[in-house]
Amino acid sequence: MTRQLESSAEKVYALAFGAHPDDVELACGATLLKIMSEGRSVSVCDLTRGEMGTMGTPETRKREAEAASLVMGYQSRTTLDLGDSKLFYNEENLAEIIRVIRHVRPDVVFANPPDERHPDHMKASKLVTDAFYYAGLQQLPTTMNGTVQEPHRPQHLLYYIQFKHIQPDVIIDVSETFDASRKGVLAFTTQFHREGAIEEPKTLINRKEFLTGLDARARYFGEQIGVVYGEGFLLSGTLGIQSFCGIFRGEG
Ligand SMILES: [Zn+2]
Repeated sequence: MTRQLESSAEKVYALAFGAHPDDVELACGATLLKIMSEGRSVSVCDLTRGEMGTMGTPETRKREAEAASLVMGYQSRTTLDLGDSKLFYNEENLAEIIRVIRHVRPDVVFANPPDERHPDHMKASKLVTDAFYYAGLQQLPTTMNGTVQEPHRPQHLLYYIQFKHIQPDVIIDVSETFDASRKGVLAFTTQFHREGAIEEPKTLINRKEFLTGLDARARYFGEQIGVVYGEGFLLSGTLGIQSFCGIFRGEG
């Protein structure tokens, strides 16, 4: 039987994975907006529906994720159902992630950091790291909608920073986009503090101080590179530089 190669893939520049809906917006939303402001496309993939969260339901979180995508301007958002708090490292889950990578064929992939407070974040990090590599293997076939996908290995893998403090390898100047990125965060209305809302039970992230804390970190990272706001990332490998002056900028 001849298997038809998938032809409807929507190529994007960057694909950002998160274990739960809102991980991406909280940790690297301003960088994603900066990428789009530079004329490149961005897609997001949530590995779970966030159904184990203390606040909200899978339905409200789905609506919130759609609202966040709209306000952020992503090309697409995929929500997988790999199991909140049951996000296991297994062949099926790896194949689901490989399918998404091969479908949108990104150049750059963002993932949860390898060392984190929430176990799902660490598991997501490992799954995406391995899927990033395996997606390029010819001998590992996957299908989508009945058609065989072509292998694709993205060029760059960056880990964003979440709860745990990690010294970043690179800090992106997001002074121009940080304020706008807060709209993407606040689209997740059940998750964060709202003035006058009854918030029982309390969670770490619906405390009034949580968003102020995020703001402070972005200011701190900004300070490290002499700008107002920054978002920090870990690199998965050594960065190769083609344009020296494009990175080491100056006036001369
Ligand atoms: Zn999360």
